[in-house]
Amino acid sequence: MATVRVIPLGGAGEIGKNCTVLEQGEDLIVVDVGLSFPHEEQYGVDIVVPDFSYLIENQHRIKGVFLTHAHEDHVGALSYLLREVDVPLYCTKLVRALVKMKLDERMRGFEPKIREVQPGDTVEVGSLKVEFVRVTHSIPETCALAIHTVHGVVLFTADFKFDFAPVDRAQTDLHRLIELGEEGVVLLMSDSTNVDRPGWGPSESEATQGLRSVFAAAPGRILVTMFSSNIHRMQQVVNCAHALGKKVAVAGRRMQQVFEIARNLEYAHIPRGTLIPIEDVGKYSASELVILLTGSQGEPMAALSQMSRAEYRWLKVAKGDTIVYSARPIPGNEGVIWRTINKLVQLGANVVTEAVAPIHVSGHAYRDEIKTMVNLTKPFYIAPVHGEPRHQKIFRELAQQMGHADHRIFTLANGDVLEIEDERAGVNGTVTAGEILIDQHGDVEVTLDVLNQRTRLAHDGILIVTVTVNAHDGTLGAPPKVQARGFSGGEELVEDIDDAIEEELVKLSSFELKETDYVRSVVTDTVRRMLNKDSRQRPEVVINVVPVKS
Ligand SMILES: [Zn+2]
Ligand SMILES: [Zn+2]
Repeated sequence: MATVRVIPLGGAGEIGKNCTVLEQGEDLIVVDVGLSFPHEEQYGVDIVVPDFSYLIENQHRIKGVFLTHAHEDHVGALSYLLREVDVPLYCTKLVRALVKMKLDERMRGFEPKIREVQPGDTVEVGSLKVEFVRVTHSIPETCALAIHTVHGVVLFTADFKFDFAPVDRAQTDLHRLIELGEEGVVLLMSDSTNVDRPGWGPSESEATQGLRSVFAAAPGRILVTMFSSNIHRMQQVVNCAHALGKKVAVAGRRMQQVFEIARNLEYAHIPRGTLIPIEDVGKYSASELVILLTGSQGEPMAALSQMSRAEYRWLKVAKGDTIVYSARPIPGNEGVIWRTINKLVQLGANVVTEAVAPIHVSGHAYRDEIKTMVNLTKPFYIAPVHGEPRHQKIFRELAQQMGHADHRIFTLANGDVLEIEDERAGVNGTVTAGEILIDQHGDVEVTLDVLNQRTRLAHDGILIVTVTVNAHDGTLGAPPKVQARGFSGGEELVEDIDDAIEEELVKLSSFELKETDYVRSVVTDTVRRMLNKDSRQRPEVVINVVPVKS
């Protein structure tokens, strides 16, 4: 029988940029094409996307891209893949609408080939069958993918939790998960994000209680910030506002777009007369207003950040306002988020976070829910993904406690090729996988060299050395000049470096001075020697040797 290969290009050993290849013989499909966010030291990097080299090399074999749900860590890198390879996408209606919205912005004029499916549908591509199985998560219409292969079902759980009171009333298809377990799940690729949290996570509906009590106690305007994709939470805010006779306005372009899509496609239901345009908030008294807004991750141009700087056009935060932070910081964003919140507090707002009231619940399964998933689907092999190595390790231990043999649990890293054959499975080699850093000013790739330079600039500043030599007769032009920016080694050291360079250059013969590269190497060595002697700093050093003719 054909070998089945499962190759994560992203999302294994990390939370973010989920993208996995599944191959059976010559047929190749892709599950999710997500992005991740940079860490604090990746200066000027906006987003991180998977390295698609393997997909580009094998593009003739790609039968389709299957999307589990519309979160950025699952669909956010699509434009970067589709620019290289125009392949059909399979997804549910909501994913289609949200993906289309983003592709229209990023790839103007491009018409993606999107095939819409319903939860429960099965799509046949080549020799593979891909079945969409509904699960509950923090965005509607999330689907696990059961991929029927010659060796059994490879089940991608997608991001899931077992929420028995979901906001949209659409339950996990437990029945089908059990059936798949009976039919034979050969490999379970499971979300492991919250495997370190004991017990069973709270239902999304529990956030309703928290929001309702915070809303009832708020003396004035209520501003709620959350992920702009969190349609369930938006619905709950609208419900709470409506119950208290308040009006809702939406601030921030992205949230307005998602809100509009959710409303038009009937994923959100807005009672008549509840919604008002953001431009009209001035016409209502403070106690009548609830405002949904972007900026939960401290994004500098988002509505919440603009308000913290008193730059937001339609509204100024003031004493009496309650700001509800109904999200969780993505690791790496904490600093900027708390700085934003501190500024809002200084403007007089009362800030309510998850620590104060139950206004946010996670969309990912806790430990007992993960155990339930394993128990229902009875996989032969297990590979925890959507988690960092520490989560993968806890998952492995958990599966062992449940009686799974160690050699049937795989801790995959991006690029690993997991091969499933008749009698065995194992990692057999790797393919190119990694991260492509995208600059904050658009689609420019930030190379590792550029990033290292930025890191040195940020830490130790820059020294710029200018040396002029007369190329005609091999004499020095003006004395060498050292300029420092962001360098804290002191003016004296800069002068000493300057003197040392001059001292070395006057020793050179006219023949040597005519050789620009040689002059550059002498200057480089001198600067390095001086820095080693007197300073522990490692600034970026730029040396300009300028030939003059006279
Ligand atoms: Zn995710
Ligand atoms: Zn998700």
